[in-house]
Amino acid sequence: MIDEGAGRPEAEILSAAFYQSPLPLIVVADGGTVSAVSHEACALMGLSREELLGRSVNGYFLPQLPIGRCFELKECLDQRCRREMLPGRGDPIPVEILCRPFRVGSDEGEDLETEYNHCLLYISDTRKRDYEDELRAARVAKLSLLNQVSEALYGANLTLDQVLEAVLICITAGQGLRFNRAFLLLVDEEVGVMRGEIAIGPSDQDEAGRIWTDLSHQPEDLFSMMTSYDQSIKQTDAAVNAIVKTMSVSLSDHDNVLVRSMEERQAIRITPDMDLPGVAAIRQWLGCDCFAVAPLMTRSGILGAIIADNAISGQRITDLDLEFLQLFANQSASAIENSRLYTELERRLIDLRQAHQKQREHQETLLRMERLSVMGETSAIVAHELRNPLVAIGGFARALVRNLDQDDPNHRYAGIITEEVSRMETIIHDLLDFIRPQKLQRKVVVVDDLVTATVERFGGEIQAKGIELALDLQAGGAKVSCNPIEIQQVLQNFLVNAMQVMPEGGSIEVRTRQVTGGVQVEVCDTGPGIAENMSDKLFAPFFTTKPTGSGLGLTICQQIIKSHGGVVGVRNRTEKGAGFSFILPLPKDS
Ligand code: ADP
Repeated sequence: MIDEGAGRPEAEILSAAFYQSPLPLIVVADGGTVSAVSHEACALMGLSREELLGRSVNGYFLPQLPIGRCFELKECLDQRCRREMLPGRGDPIPVEILCRPFRVGSDEGEDLETEYNHCLLYISDTRKRDYEDELRAARVAKLSLLNQVSEALYGANLTLDQVLEAVLICITAGQGLRFNRAFLLLVDEEVGVMRGEIAIGPSDQDEAGRIWTDLSHQPEDLFSMMTSYDQSIKQTDAAVNAIVKTMSVSLSDHDNVLVRSMEERQAIRITPDMDLPGVAAIRQWLGCDCFAVAPLMTRSGILGAIIADNAISGQRITDLDLEFLQLFANQSASAIENSRLYTELERRLIDLRQAHQKQREHQETLLRMERLSVMGETSAIVAHELRNPLVAIGGFARALVRNLDQDDPNHRYAGIITEEVSRMETIIHDLLDFIRPQKLQRKVVVVDDLVTATVERFGGEIQAKGIELALDLQAGGAKVSCNPIEIQQVLQNFLVNAMQVMPEGGSIEVRTRQVTGGVQVEVCDTGPGIAENMSDKLFAPFFTTKPTGSGLGLTICQQIIKSHGGVVGVRNRTEKGAGFSFILPLPKDS
């Protein structure tokens, strides 16, 4: 309703109302002159109402608006068009203009469409909208990259190193987040620190120029990107990788910006004016003031963090950059965790296969042992049964040797029978020793004392054979838990063997030493030593080079020492002769 009572003409009221409109509006008359303008339009154009009224509107828009002609041509009837607006002051402004022609006058019944004589222009500043459009486009592009990255990271069987590298490539690539450099740190839970692992980026402007030229030619998909990165850029990463290796932050330093970003699960942008704990150290590592930190987090925990900067270009890190860095970090964290789990799974699978293989071997060993045990029992019975007839044969043979005349050819045969029988008796004696189940009656003894007692017992016999005997006891009172009779048997066996390989005389030295976790006893002789490739065979049952040997002595020694949890050994001495040794473990509490 128009306020007639106030006495103002309707046209004046409408003109004032039009001026107050909250929209940037201009009324253009036929011919293009401005006949009304709103306050908002004045503000947008940077001109006063007086400056605009009566002026041609064409001077303010590029390209010019076809006002006037448009009434005839109906070119922009009700249409939106984009123009550059030239305001009274400042730079041109991109605008969108909505034209609405209309007619002023009251010629009823005329064809309104051909008879327009004014035009209402609604001008809107598109700068904000253009910016938002750009932002949206950038978002869409980055989201599509994220999607591509996630497909690539999950779809392929990448190793952990490949995943880490792919993550950093995406952060720095032209199609990616476009940061200059990216550093990846991973949490080491065991030592409670987060350490720099891998980095990507140029070290100076020259290198950056080359890399960015290379990157701009990069193909779209991640794998091609990774391959071309590998071929052309990787060698330039030495400098940043040297930096990343120096990065280390304690997880207990809760104020540190990296730890805080992890604990708050939030990306943080550091600008030159910010001074948070830990920032100074990162600035020193990076050599630049501005950077962004994003935590690598998964549902199950925090894996580490990414630091990204624009140290070379100096470009500002925008909200969008930060938002995408965080999004991307989340995506990457899951891929990193997946790859770790996959590696772990593979490792466990290998362990499982090895355990399975071991179990099979154990089963086979068990079967073999069962068979051997049956054989052992049978051998014991056979040996036992053979002993009595052998004693009888040996006795008769010896009687024959005694009773037969020396010249009688049977005297020689009876002698051979005696020798062979005594050899068979030795074999049976040793065999029974070997087969008989060992009863372990253990005592804690001082090794040096045990050795001294054994050597004293055989000392006379050894020296009678023209062999020098020496002791070098340096076990220093070390004690072992053992069956002393059995250990003496081993030592005795070594001594007898040493005597037997030196029929012309020589020397024997018995040594004791403390070694890691045990005590070593060695019997060294100056005999012929061990022929090449023979040392393994010496301990095998029935291996002998002696005409009357059973070949069971060393086998029994090995069995005794093994049953004590020790090991036997043999070596050729550098001087001359052989050294036969065993090591007995020290008791656990010593
Ligand atoms: P045997 O004494 O009945 O032959 P052993 O098992 O005691 O059985 O010894 C096996 C073989 O090891 C001997 O026949 C010999 O060839 C070799 N051997 C043992 N001791 C020595 C040594 N001190 N020097 C060289 N060879 C040795």
